[in-house]
Amino acid sequence: MQQVARLLTRAVGDANLLARLGADHFAVVIPEVQQEGDVALLVERWMKALLDHPFGVNTSTFRISARVGISLFPDAGSTAEALFKNAEAALKQAKASRNGYLFYTPKIAEMTAGKFVLENQLREAVDKQEFILYYQPKVNLASGKLTSAEALIRWNDPRSGLVPPDRFIPILEETGLIYEVGRWALGKAIEDYLRWQSAGLPAVRIAVNVSPLQLRNRDFIAEIEQAIGIDARAAAGLELELTEGLIMEDVEHSIATLRAIRAMGVSIAIDDFGTGFSSLSYLSKLPLDTLKIARSFVIDMTATPEGLAQVSTIINLAHSLKLKVVAEGVETKEQSRLLGMLGCDEMQGFLLGEAVPDEIFETRYLELLPPGDASRGVCAGPRRWRRAGRSRAVRASEK
Ligand code: C2E
Ligand code: CA
Repeated sequence: MQQVARLLTRAVGDANLLARLGADHFAVVIPEVQQEGDVALLVERWMKALLDHPFGVNTSTFRISARVGISLFPDAGSTAEALFKNAEAALKQAKASRNGYLFYTPKIAEMTAGKFVLENQLREAVDKQEFILYYQPKVNLASGKLTSAEALIRWNDPRSGLVPPDRFIPILEETGLIYEVGRWALGKAIEDYLRWQSAGLPAVRIAVNVSPLQLRNRDFIAEIEQAIGIDARAAAGLELELTEGLIMEDVEHSIATLRAIRAMGVSIAIDDFGTGFSSLSYLSKLPLDTLKIARSFVIDMTATPEGLAQVSTIINLAHSLKLKVVAEGVETKEQSRLLGMLGCDEMQGFLLGEAVPDEIFETRYLELLPPGDASRGVCAGPRRWRRAGRSRAVRASEK
């Protein structure tokens, strides 16, 4: 940071026009600007100087890139405070859009305001408990029997209806609300599982997605302990889906955490496997139960021989590590056939069914199984599942 500050001071030419605002966050005042283009050229020159400069720390050399948000007087504000706030908004947008630098515009103002509104609506949604869990079935590829369900969160926004998670999870993570919502999702999945059990339905294990922030939280193990502590049967009903990148980020910590969680009887799956950079030596050390093959691989599988080889490699790898392997996003019979041929254990995807609310999951999938026994499903194969899911009348006649 000292070296960066020296370089920036040299570039700006006057240390009084430069400030350090945060750990790696600087501000510069350019007092006289003839035209917008001059600022752009200047900023580009500074960014290049930064990138070209080899920063030496101990014996290592680092290259550093920067992102810049710019606000111009008087269009982007007539006071120092407004200019400063708007430069921050432009910087945020530059980071989000992977642009090197961005000038503040009314559009950026709109986006920032829109995000602010969404943040407030999400805070309200947490208070008013507007989140819902949907369940998507997973089945055994060879037998077609239901094996488990994945819980997928939805936000029932009173203004616009159901909102998919990709639209709000990143904001829950940014604002820290994810801890509360994540805890709720765990509790709700366990509650549904126990309700199925008590109703004499063949309750299947429910997989809950866990945000990287939750896993990094020091209290995560205690949280799981508390969630399953409400009933002795709860642990057997819970699986956690964690992304590969997150686990590999701090392998030693992940091993310790996952070991503690598995010791409680909860299963662990790696989500979207193949998209991150798992180290094979670590993979064998991780306490895991399942690898989930990412949808992108399932798509590629039918497109090229290499795609097929990749899926085959993941399945073999999983089996040699004694892990169960689940293919995600299976949409076609051809994909299902190939996966079966390659020895994949389970599949999940629109071919079997989308995620549905708990009451539909119960009638569509659980009531088809003999009571009290989730392992002896009645379904002959994926085709039968699809038909069975269509209506009660069809199901009744099949029974
Ligand atoms: P994911 O864990 O990879 O979940 C699978 C996503 O693929 C789901 O989208 C599911 O509806 C969709 N999907 C399933 N089968 C198919 C298929 O055959 N074709 C296609 N095109 N898509 C399929 P969804 O429900 O929108 O969830 C998106 C992501 O949001 C999830 O990705 C997961 O990372 C995250 N998420 C969902 N629920 C939670 C939650 O409770 N907590 C956290 N932290 N993240 C969640
Ligand atoms: Ca998942």
